[in-house]
Amino acid sequence: MSGPRPVRAARGTELSTLGWQQEAALRMLQNNLDPEVAEHPDKLVVYGGTGKAARDWRSYDAMVRTLQTLKQDETMLVQSGRPVGVMQTHEWAPRVLLANSNLVGDWANWEEFRRLEHLGLTMYGQMTAGSWIYIGTQGILQGTYETFAAVAAKKFGGTLAGTITLTAGLGGMGGAQPLAVTMNDGVAICIDVDPRAIDRRIEHRYLDVKADNLRHALQLAVEARDARKPLSIGLLGNAAELLPQMLAEGAPIDIVTDQTSAHDPLAYLPVGVDFDDMASYAAKDPAGFTTRARESMAKHVEAMVGFMDAGAEVFDYGNSIRGEAQLAGYDRAFAFPGFVPAYIRPLFCEGKGPFRWAALSGEASDIHKTDKAMLELFPENESLHRWIKMAGERVHFQGLPARICWLGYGERDKAGERFNEMVADGTLAAPLAIGRDHLDCGSVASPYRETEAMLDGSDAIADWPLLNAMVNVASGASWVSIHHGGGVGMGRSIHAGQVTVADGTKLAGEKIRRVLTNDPGMGVIRHVDAGYDIAETVADERGVRVPMREG
Ligand code: NAD
Repeated sequence: MSGPRPVRAARGTELSTLGWQQEAALRMLQNNLDPEVAEHPDKLVVYGGTGKAARDWRSYDAMVRTLQTLKQDETMLVQSGRPVGVMQTHEWAPRVLLANSNLVGDWANWEEFRRLEHLGLTMYGQMTAGSWIYIGTQGILQGTYETFAAVAAKKFGGTLAGTITLTAGLGGMGGAQPLAVTMNDGVAICIDVDPRAIDRRIEHRYLDVKADNLRHALQLAVEARDARKPLSIGLLGNAAELLPQMLAEGAPIDIVTDQTSAHDPLAYLPVGVDFDDMASYAAKDPAGFTTRARESMAKHVEAMVGFMDAGAEVFDYGNSIRGEAQLAGYDRAFAFPGFVPAYIRPLFCEGKGPFRWAALSGEASDIHKTDKAMLELFPENESLHRWIKMAGERVHFQGLPARICWLGYGERDKAGERFNEMVADGTLAAPLAIGRDHLDCGSVASPYRETEAMLDGSDAIADWPLLNAMVNVASGASWVSIHHGGGVGMGRSIHAGQVTVADGTKLAGEKIRRVLTNDPGMGVIRHVDAGYDIAETVADERGVRVPMREG
């Protein structure tokens, strides 16, 4: 019987499949489970507490086997992490189609999901876990960096120097927070209940130091703030205990957010429960654990609101903690905004979002060459130049070398076509897998996050991600996915993803041009439809057709 074992994607140009499109899917599936990349690879969990790349080890083996024999005109169908069929399609069709964690509306809650998961019928796919384009903490780093840059621009004169940010959660994605703050020259205190999470971020150079206790953390923070020096400080403890304590003591905090796994109440440690007992308690009494976790989240959010009342800039970082606190009866849970309406929506209107690519060669030099190509392609884009330079210096690759860079409509296709040429002319050692997060401009319906407070009230309309997936299939993506729940939990979102492989062929170039135009195009039309002026200007200037504005 197959069971847990270390998984690592192959490097180099030798294929164990019948073509690069299939090879890319295989390597990216395996890369998601690489111990350098995944949070709990033995459980097939990539990030986000329970986000998996395959349902179980038997399904994983079957997917590997199937990808190794899959032909250029065949498509493997994956239902929540299990391969359920191979169909004859054609060479423009995706090689893999994935649907993860989807449940019918009235059934889409954690209780029903867990019942089905327990029966072995489904798995939680998160966003890029079940769709095989997670690239480690870097994947979220640029988005987090841009968010803190927007906070700095809005409230602190364009820099976080001389400010202290307080947050919690140093997991797969939350671990990007300390580096994103120090890249903006600020000081961060980052709380986590798991000592390993703190040590791991220090090891990967995302976090600078570990404090002995709360007093020590505050002392280090104030010293660094006064010297206007960037510093990130890990603090062991429960955020639901420490935040109220810090508020009561009048800690000098300027910015507060949170990235604990609050979207899944079984992954948030309640006050009074030992970290070592967390997993067994959650498994033994999920209902009791959930109630206690939500009560703790209410205390946590109440303290965040307290910091806001005291003048701090406070925002929800997309983990549903406000929704959970509200379920526990805290009535001011939504007093502070989510980060999308507060800072990110104007970027979405331009079709901008977390574009990324991974070097299937395994060579860091391939990424450095693509970095250089990006600087040449977009000479006028200052923030892109700043990001690529800092990423080149400070980002530690996890698994296959990769890069993330927020690009918009009219930019992604340009980058993708250039990359394909670089594969074709031998500049790069092997093809690239080009994809993005599901958290993108036109690929997600999520009323507590990406589509919170839409101008026309269309927050919960989920036709958009479905159209997005269909247009990517029709445009020639290499694999396409539709998920439910993602970073905000069951019942709260529907989202789609795509990955397209630049293998240097003419066909790949044609697919890339269509996919990387139409995919961000969804962001533009989604925001035109909702009435955003910026999106209308982008549509006019860059020639995005919107029938209701014609004739
Ligand atoms: P993760 O499970 O890898 O990490 C969560 C961390 O929270 C763990 O290290 C855990 O020990 C810690 N934690 C749990 N309970 C705690 C408590 N009471 N006090 C202090 N620490 C506690 O998850 P992740 O991948 O880092 O994601 C975290 C959350 O942030 C998710 O809900 C995710 O969806 C969300 N998120 C949203 C965005 C976005 O919207 N852009 C980006 C990143 C993450």
